[in-house]
Amino acid sequence: MTIRSRLTLWYTTLLAVILLVFGVVLYAFLSAKLYSDVKSELKTQADAIQQNIIVVEFFGRRTYTLPRLEGFKSASFFLQAYWIRNGRLIQESNVDFHMDFSAQAERILREKENFYETFEAVNASTRERLRMMAYYQPVYVENEIVGVLQVSTPIEGVMTTLQNLEYFLWILSVCTLALSASMGWFMARKALKPIGLIIQSTQRIENGADLDQQIEYHGPNDEIGQLIETINNMLARIRNAYSELEESYSMQRRFVSDASHELRTPLTTIRGNVDLLEKMWNRARDEKAAVTGEELDMSVEALRDIAEEARRITRLVNDLLALARADAGVEIEKEPVEIRPLLDEVARRAQFLPRTAEWVPGDFSIADGVKVLGNKDYLQQLLFIFIENAFKYTDTGEVRLEVLKGGQGRYIGFRIQDSGRGIEPEALPHIFERFYRADESRGQKPGTGLGLAIAKWIIDEHEGSVEVTSLVNHGTTFTIWLPVLQSPE
Ligand code: ADP
Repeated sequence: MTIRSRLTLWYTTLLAVILLVFGVVLYAFLSAKLYSDVKSELKTQADAIQQNIIVVEFFGRRTYTLPRLEGFKSASFFLQAYWIRNGRLIQESNVDFHMDFSAQAERILREKENFYETFEAVNASTRERLRMMAYYQPVYVENEIVGVLQVSTPIEGVMTTLQNLEYFLWILSVCTLALSASMGWFMARKALKPIGLIIQSTQRIENGADLDQQIEYHGPNDEIGQLIETINNMLARIRNAYSELEESYSMQRRFVSDASHELRTPLTTIRGNVDLLEKMWNRARDEKAAVTGEELDMSVEALRDIAEEARRITRLVNDLLALARADAGVEIEKEPVEIRPLLDEVARRAQFLPRTAEWVPGDFSIADGVKVLGNKDYLQQLLFIFIENAFKYTDTGEVRLEVLKGGQGRYIGFRIQDSGRGIEPEALPHIFERFYRADESRGQKPGTGLGLAIAKWIIDEHEGSVEVTSLVNHGTTFTIWLPVLQSPE
């Protein structure tokens, strides 16, 4: 059963119960009220008659007669009496029908208790059947019971009123129920329409079509509105997560294919050189001849190539490992690191790097006593990545390392400035990407294109930032900013 049918059913059943209770209470109340009015009227009449019993005394013998009916206010009251005469009951009636009520009279004489009764009477002349209510009471004269009085009245009016009320209540209930059921059905449809929209949209998504789906809703911001808004937000998040996933998946694929490509080049060189050596030495063995001087030179060169390529592979594999660790979400272990000794150490070791440019470490005194939360080894690696690059891409001129403060002392900066070839503006946004190498670097300078990607990861891990400015043929400046943990001021 649909929610809509259930809602309508509940609603209608509840209304039916309310109407039933209301109808029963109303009917019971009105019926009690009308019957009690009739009863009190009968009693009033009976009391009045009691007062007006006609007593006739004849030679010491008393006879009793009912008063004239016209003397009473309503002709719709009928009087009958039984008089006790010589121990027998003699009936007197002033109406045109007679009804035997000796049994009731005897009950009154026995119990001396008044009571009411409803019965059906037949009008002798019109043969009409009438529902009546009667009141019985003993007739006292001078504290002696002389007879029994019956006062009765037709109750057709009361019954018709109650019957009409019953019809009216039935019709009212049926109409109200029919109206409320159809209104309920209509309203449930209106209220549940947005749910239908949600179902349609989510089914479209389920069927795989389209994550760009949004549920269109222009209604008020009620529970349904909030539900739709939540689902729309959820869809947006799924969409984002999905596109992020796709992006990272394609990055990963590119990374693997770039890495294999980068590994293949040195391996091919190594294979070529090994083949060459093998050929030369096989020839010498087969011909039992000595290796010529020229062949010896070629062998040495081949071995040098092999060693150089092996170093390159080692560097590449180390870099790949570092990035794989970064991708796996490995966090760098950090502790307070003093900057001054770190810089002194880097400056000292940098002078031994292969270089043609001059090495100019600046004045590091403002870093005295400054600490950052970081990892000493990774911070050194970070600075060496930039310094090695600066030397690599600067044939003549100088490479400087300076330290500076920023953000009112909240940040410490390391500036590596060279006067080398610079970076083309269009290459600049890409230099931190994995395997990216500006065109002129390729083939000219050794490198993997992973150095700056690793540097970026280390900076991010230290919650720092990096700025780069470059002018082609004039040089490049990198500034790394790290948050200060503690400073002497
Ligand atoms: P690589 O191993 O090629 O040096 P990096 O990731 O360290 O890889 O650098 C990426 C690219 O950025 C380099 O190939 C080079 O084109 C450019 N680059 C980096 N540092 C400098 C610099 N100091 N001067 C000029 N170009 C640079």
